[in-house]
Amino acid sequence: VKRHHHKHNLKHRYEFLESLGKGTYGKVKKAKERSGRLVAVKSIRKEKIKDEQDLVHIRREIEIMSSLCHPHIITIYEFENKDKIVIVMEYASQGDLYDYICDKKNLSEYEARHFFRQIVSAVHYCHQNGIVHRDLKLENILLDGNGNFQIADFGLSNLYHSDEYLQTFCGSPLYASPEIVNGRPYRGPVDTWSLGVLLYTLVHGTMPFDGLNHKILVQQISTGNYRKPSKPSACGLIRWMLMVNPERRATIEEVAGHW
Ligand code: ATP
Ligand code: MG
Repeated sequence: VKRHHHKHNLKHRYEFLESLGKGTYGKVKKAKERSGRLVAVKSIRKEKIKDEQDLVHIRREIEIMSSLCHPHIITIYEFENKDKIVIVMEYASQGDLYDYICDKKNLSEYEARHFFRQIVSAVHYCHQNGIVHRDLKLENILLDGNGNFQIADFGLSNLYHSDEYLQTFCGSPLYASPEIVNGRPYRGPVDTWSLGVLLYTLVHGTMPFDGLNHKILVQQISTGNYRKPSKPSACGLIRWMLMVNPERRATIEEVAGHW
């Protein structure tokens, strides 16, 4: 992990610009390096960290993101752990996939496939390295200045082994698999369910599961009863990714290899 070794604090080496967003633990700001390079800087005030679990998440976010190197994953350049925890990362200038879809309403199949391929290649790379993201959703996929999507926010990610089960319930319920919403132990590559939800929203412009309350939502997810799409686009692959039985669900290799 690249903890920086400069004499000066990060705040003296960057010119801080506008705010980009607010997360659970801290603020994210745009900043400019002396070289002119734009970066995104996440600052976490230590008093915001309430328990050991929060610290585990922040530590994992830094360790896992800085160990990954992929064109569709936000890179961490450096971090500082002094009075604040400060993370300097690659800047994605064009907002997130949620806003992109809201603006565009309907993506063409061609465009949806293009973006989905980028996201799948990044998740495939994570799974090959034994890393599960666990919080894949439109808001955590950012658009960079070159029009490419990048996965961000590894705060809920973890390492896994193929023969082990994970226990922690996490992520947004809208994207959570049947195992997760029912509090059952689950296998590492659970991300493919969330990717199924994501593909559905890319292609059809709505959420597949949108129960009015949590109980209805859990029922819909547990039975795989998603809203019937208005057109047949990608329906075979979506059905395969939204298989209730994880043994029958498409693996990331199968998704990546799908026509
Ligand atoms: P949450 O738990 O709400 O998802 P978080 O604490 O995990 O928040 P992030 O999702 O990492 O925080 O960041 C919060 C917001 O800041 C994002 O939704 C996004 O709008 C913005 N942001 C984060 N990283 C970047 C980046 N590299 N480039 C541009 N904007 C970013
Ligand atoms: Mg986030």
